[in-house]
Amino acid sequence: MAEVVTGFCMKCKQSRAIQNPARTTMSNGRIRVSGKCSSKDCTGSISKIVS
Ligand SMILES: [Zn+2]
Repeated sequence: MAEVVTGFCMKCKQSRAIQNPARTTMSNGRIRVSGKCSSKDCTGSISKIVS
C-alpha cells in the first residue's frame, strides 16, 4: 500500500512528499514519519508528526 505523506522541507521551503517514509513511535506515543525530500535536486530530510 503506497501511502503519500507530505511534510515541510526546510531546504525547499515548500511542502513535499516524503520519499520512503518511515514511521517511528515516539516515547510519548505520538507517531512521527520521517524520510527524504522527494524533490530530485534536494537532499533535505523531512520529519512530520502525524498523530
Ligand atoms: Zn526538499
